[in-house]
Amino acid sequence: MKKDLIALKTRALEDLKKINDISGLEEFRIKYLGKKGLLSAFMKNIGKLPPEQRPEIGKIANEIREKITTEYEGLKKRLQQKEKRERFIDVTLPGRRHERGHIHPITTVINEVCEIFSKMGFRIVTGPEIELDYYNFEALNIPKDHPARDMQDTFYITENLLLRTHTSPIQVRVMEVQKPPVAIICPGKVYRRDSDVSHTPMFHQVEGLLVDKSVTFGDLKGVLTLFVHKMFGKETKVRFRPSFFPFTEPSAEVDIQCVICKGKGCRTCGFTGWLEILGSGMVDPEVYKFVGYDQEEYTGFAFGMGIERIAMLKYGIEDIQLFYKNEMRFLGQFL
Ligand SMILES: [Zn+2]
Repeated sequence: MKKDLIALKTRALEDLKKINDISGLEEFRIKYLGKKGLLSAFMKNIGKLPPEQRPEIGKIANEIREKITTEYEGLKKRLQQKEKRERFIDVTLPGRRHERGHIHPITTVINEVCEIFSKMGFRIVTGPEIELDYYNFEALNIPKDHPARDMQDTFYITENLLLRTHTSPIQVRVMEVQKPPVAIICPGKVYRRDSDVSHTPMFHQVEGLLVDKSVTFGDLKGVLTLFVHKMFGKETKVRFRPSFFPFTEPSAEVDIQCVICKGKGCRTCGFTGWLEILGSGMVDPEVYKFVGYDQEEYTGFAFGMGIERIAMLKYGIEDIQLFYKNEMRFLGQFL
């Protein structure tokens, strides 16, 4: 038994040498010094020894326990000090950089569009996102039974209150209070019940309106061609294609030469060489009736574009949803 005790001591002290952290030390304590540990087991067996052997073995066992305990306590102190040192701030380490924030690509495009039109004399106006049916549809020549209401899946709040489906209501609100000349640009969020790779339920539009004496379709073409050249480069070809909108007559969709293939034909442009980017037209005289403009005296044009679409073309992005996932791997590319 004496031999066993000495062997235990040797093993314990060797184990102790291998320990280099607090959790390892705790395992050691449980194994050797704990209530159910190896030393306790020995101590219990001393009682079973013949009485004459008990004092000697008892003494050795106590000495060994003391020795192991002292070594254990010493190592515990050293390990605790080491951990404390490691928690200290090392002032010689290089600092951690804070990431700099930056403008969201959608905001960048809105700012760019607004700046181009501002320089042409358009004033930037905003309006409410929760809108009356009257401003969103009625006053834009889209009465309740008009088929054009089917073109836009609307989020209704009440029968007369809705999330605006375009920024055109702002134009009506401005014309109600301002006599021509009017030259405004209206950026903002709009809402439609639509969601796939090219649609999100919320997206951004910029619409514009110019009303004055003797404004012609030629003015519309001139202003929008200049815009395209500023936005996509002077060499970009533009074409105007007849279309239909309830509040303009005549109406035209504006295509630009595909920015990806430069007109040769690719997947993005559906192999046509052209990309649709704008809707436009001469303001329908019916609209002037709602705001009390003299339709004999004034003419004007309006146009609108989806900002996400412009941003997708400008940056070559195929999935519109990426703009709203807030993934830094994506957004970080637009620094
Ligand atoms: Zn193309």
